[in-house]
Amino acid sequence: MAADAPALTPLDHIIRDRIAREGPISVHNYMSLALTHPEHGYYRRRQAIGRGGDFITAPEISQTFGEILGLWSAVAGQMAAPEGPLALIEIGPGRGTLMADALRALKVVPGLMSRLLVHMVEPSPALRAEQEQRLANAPVTPHWHQALSEVPQTPSVILANEVVDALPVRQLVRHAGHWHERVVAISADASLAFAIGQPVEIADPVSAKDGDILETRPDLDTFLMAIADRARTAPTAALLIDYGHERTSCGDTLQAVRHHQRSDPLAWAGDSDLTAQVDFEALAEVARARGLAVDGPVPQAAFLGALGIVERAERLLRAGSPAQAAAIEAGVLRLIDPGGMGSRFKVLALRSPAIPRLPGL
Ligand code: SAH
Repeated sequence: MAADAPALTPLDHIIRDRIAREGPISVHNYMSLALTHPEHGYYRRRQAIGRGGDFITAPEISQTFGEILGLWSAVAGQMAAPEGPLALIEIGPGRGTLMADALRALKVVPGLMSRLLVHMVEPSPALRAEQEQRLANAPVTPHWHQALSEVPQTPSVILANEVVDALPVRQLVRHAGHWHERVVAISADASLAFAIGQPVEIADPVSAKDGDILETRPDLDTFLMAIADRARTAPTAALLIDYGHERTSCGDTLQAVRHHQRSDPLAWAGDSDLTAQVDFEALAEVARARGLAVDGPVPQAAFLGALGIVERAERLLRAGSPAQAAAIEAGVLRLIDPGGMGSRFKVLALRSPAIPRLPGL
């Protein structure tokens, strides 16, 4: 192993033992273990999000993000169910910031709070604890669940920011004119390394040349099926926000981030955040096949702009001190930066077909 290689994490040892016993593992298996191993997986143990963690997300950058999403939820909720119980569900709520900001904004919507049920879908016990703390004084007391399928069926609005990028990807690599599984093996210098595995028979979604990498998301169908099942039973609108591309194309987008720095995806297993870009074309295709109507994707800047993030920020600017005003302005500009998050992140909505096209899309 190279002299400057990172120390082995507990999960590294487990993965190496497994490869030594059973042979190379797929990138999909590697990413699944790194994120969700019951003891050593990244989301099981690390306080990941925020300035002191590994990465920062839109709700942590500006309170206006959650506020705007809250107001969007009120409109979408009105379209889904003008009266009676309405569930606001967040999948993968991180530190609970988005929901806290959304609920604060929603307090002013007449007649909403008395019919609103709040559900948080969070598999990570560490993050759930943080969310409970964050929402201790929320105007509606949330309920927590491990999976969306556990949330009682009612008309609902679902939010998921930067969750699909955390669903493990499978990588296929083009070799000698065929697709092969991309695997993780132990190399001659004893480090983990990518390698070419068994040939795989798939219908070619794109034209490719040798060396190209194609990513798919095997767990996406289950994720979308849970939304589709709800949408069939009761009017449902869901908003997915993530970084990714609008058209299926080749490319290795697996990335690791640790302490706000890019790191080697095969180092620090369980101790760095692994994500991969969302292929919105593939996502929309699976969603439609499951019976959902799809709006978008649109760039995050266009979505937030259409919903009035600039006006919202201006109102906050007038109310705050000069230092607060500068921070609010910087945060909003970062979210809608056309050369950064404003275009890299996209917004896509899924809905029961009976609900009309959703706002901002
Ligand atoms: N939405 C938050 C956090 C993003 S990090 C924010 O914007 O700050 C990803 C979140 O998704 C974490 O809360 C993680 O625990 C959760 N997560 C990862 N895989 C998930 C899955 N399969 N189902 C639900 N949540 C998941």
